[in-house]
Amino acid sequence: KWNEILQKMKVEYCSSTTAYNAWIAPLTVYEVTDDTVFIFVALKPSIEHIEEKYILPFRVCVAEVTGKEYDIAFVTEDNAYIKEKKEFIAKKNQTNALFEQANLNPKYTFDTFVVGSNNNFAHAASVAVAESPGEVYNPLFIYGGVGLGKTHLMHSIAHHILQNDPGKKVLYVTSETFTNELIDALKQGKKSNEMAMTTFREKYRTNDVLLIDDIQFIIGKESTQEEFFHTFNHLHVSGKQIIISSDKPPKDIETLEARLRTRFEWGLIADIQSPNYETRMAILRKKEELDNLQRYHIPDEVMQYIANNVKSNIRELEGSLNKLIALANLENKEIDIPLTAEALKDIISPDENRVVTPELIMDVVSEHFNVPVTELKGKKRNSEIVLPRQIVMYLCRTMTDTPLKTVGIILGGKDHASVSHGVNKITNQIKTDEALSNTINIIKKKINPI
Ligand code: ADP
Ligand code: MG
Repeated sequence: KWNEILQKMKVEYCSSTTAYNAWIAPLTVYEVTDDTVFIFVALKPSIEHIEEKYILPFRVCVAEVTGKEYDIAFVTEDNAYIKEKKEFIAKKNQTNALFEQANLNPKYTFDTFVVGSNNNFAHAASVAVAESPGEVYNPLFIYGGVGLGKTHLMHSIAHHILQNDPGKKVLYVTSETFTNELIDALKQGKKSNEMAMTTFREKYRTNDVLLIDDIQFIIGKESTQEEFFHTFNHLHVSGKQIIISSDKPPKDIETLEARLRTRFEWGLIADIQSPNYETRMAILRKKEELDNLQRYHIPDEVMQYIANNVKSNIRELEGSLNKLIALANLENKEIDIPLTAEALKDIISPDENRVVTPELIMDVVSEHFNVPVTELKGKKRNSEIVLPRQIVMYLCRTMTDTPLKTVGIILGGKDHASVSHGVNKITNQIKTDEALSNTINIIKKKINPI
């Protein structure tokens, strides 16, 4: 594959054949590890120039040729240099493991977050908390509508804290996870396994930083709010940082117990609003850069068209760009306004009076479980996909009038019997499985927020 990569570098990134022959042609592969390609530079003095000019192009070309993203490191025969790089990578892997333990998405950092007038207060508060956890605003409460960057900001804080001090114990969870784990611990406790509750409390009460996303879904069940209340107190008195997000400010969450509400108001409450036009453009440009989309040469007017038409949800803004690129690739067409209009036609939908359709259900379930819609429609039968797929069937049955046969067709051609089986399976399971029933209630709220 190396020759293919060099060829790509030559055609796409070298200003001339001379430049190619001078810098790129002499390079060889030194070693390929799990996530890094080490490239050997024979002429030691040239390493700086190569590193500066070609590291990004190599990253792109390697990813395109191998279909996998690798880090690129240049090495010379100077062993100290190689060692340093290896140590650097070992350290990076270690931090990555910490990020994973804390449940973090590596893409959500302050670096990739665009600050605008809609979010600068929440951003500044987040940075302050990330710099001095437990010392400034505790709890930090971030609220705002769907797809406006709450989760992104929370992950950014957690990344920053771990990067400054890998010894800190940081945990990000959704309130759904908290609730479901509590339900399971209580259930096991009844089956005479007292350890279950101890393990649960140890998990949540020993953190230096606890982040709970979408707290509005800690609802209904008193026992969950009770347990969360004690978790909160336990952490707060010992000066541990708590960060909470919600779609509304505490005073507007009707189902929240008063004692939790007042506690949420102890620290700082920061809101995120919809982005204005400039911020939407900045986010599109940022995404273009992060996803290496410059090679598509998306015209300004196309970006402006997207920013003008997708206003109130950043996830949809990003989705529009993804859809446009996919369409351009698929149909091998130039990116222009008509193609963009076609790509956006399903996305630009008046949010008011949105009707519940099987497509909407599929989108929400797909996002909730982080399973692509294509997999829901596909044939794979592993449990990570079967459960979400059956939940789609169940929700189509209970939330829409769509005949089961049609549901099967929409789900990529499942027959009536398997749809019916899926519906029955979920219907029965939620009678006894409280965690699943909690999850389904949350998904229903996401589909139909009113
Ligand atoms: P929320 O949790 O508020 O529903 P998310 O944090 O999941 O929203 O954000 C939705 C998407 O939009 C994510 O992919 C996120 O990276 C992106 N996003 C949101 N705000 C910004 C921003 N200010 N800059 C860059 N990307 C953003
Ligand atoms: Mg979120």
